Amino acid sequence: MTEMQESVERIGLPEFLPGLLREQYGEQTAVRIIQGYGAKRKVTLRANTIKATAEEIDKALSEAGISYSKVPWYEDAFVIEEGDESRIRQLAVYEEGKIYLQSLSSMLPPLALGPRAGADILDMAAAPGGKTTQMAAMTGNKAHITACEMNSIRMERLRYNVEKQGASCVYLMQKDSRTLDDFFSFDQILLDAPCSGSGVLDLEDARLQTHFTRKLIDKSVKAQTALIKKAVNLLKKGQEMVYSTCSVLACENEMIVKSALSGGKVELVPLSAEVFPGLPVLPVKMAGTLCVAPDELYEGFFLAKLRKR
Ligand code: SAM
Repeated sequence: MTEMQESVERIGLPEFLPGLLREQYGEQTAVRIIQGYGAKRKVTLRANTIKATAEEIDKALSEAGISYSKVPWYEDAFVIEEGDESRIRQLAVYEEGKIYLQSLSSMLPPLALGPRAGADILDMAAAPGGKTTQMAAMTGNKAHITACEMNSIRMERLRYNVEKQGASCVYLMQKDSRTLDDFFSFDQILLDAPCSGSGVLDLEDARLQTHFTRKLIDKSVKAQTALIKKAVNLLKKGQEMVYSTCSVLACENEMIVKSALSGGKVELVPLSAEVFPGLPVLPVKMAGTLCVAPDELYEGFFLAKLRKR
């Protein structure tokens, strides 16, 4: 039995996925990804600098006897060395919205976009709001962020998080972003697109086999294609956007970016993994895009940056 078959049998992945991964990445990297699904990921969080400084969070964690480490690329990120989220949820800093539980991978798109104070920013797929509130914090609550979310239940979660984090520069809009009027235009856009979640498969989820299907991938590709087209239309000339997913499949990532580039209205702004030391990157089919491997620190993730000509 190959290493791949052993991993697949042990963790019960949907049958078609190993073949897809092997086709895209080759045997060795496919095994790495599959093993990454099974890794027990550490709890990570972000200091909400609207309400607290990273030093204050350092202190609160130390006083609670919670050991943590830092990543070299983001001083507001904390990696909790032991224990689950429940321990963090009991802390006063959590209750007060001074921290936000967020995966490290999910912190990358706002950093790649670099939200600016005073800018009109569109977050096209915003709930539950990790990146919306991160962008608000990065601008000192001084941008004008329109956070769009289609699902009404998720919109309530977004509203709760935005309020709890004190992100008062965020304007919430419950809407299908694909139907936003082209009359609008934005200085910066984040499209953290709905996706199959192939970078973050939860192997303990009993519904994984029925939920993660080829149909889900096809549906995601269709939505992503329409969303990125809309993003390109809504972006002001000379301005930038970031496209991201928690998928490691090229059909949801590089191919979607390619579809946007083919219209000729945007160009790729190359991203470099060197800006994020320690990031476990996967080979990509389009130079200048970044794909992150799932492991004990990171979720599988993809991001690309585009500029409107
Ligand atoms: N950016 C979020 C964060 O950092 O917390 C995570 C976004 S999640 C990957 C994708 C979200 O997009 C889901 O909440 C989903 O309901 C929403 N969504 C999917 N299609 C949409 C659409 N056409 N317009 C607006 N929101 C959409």
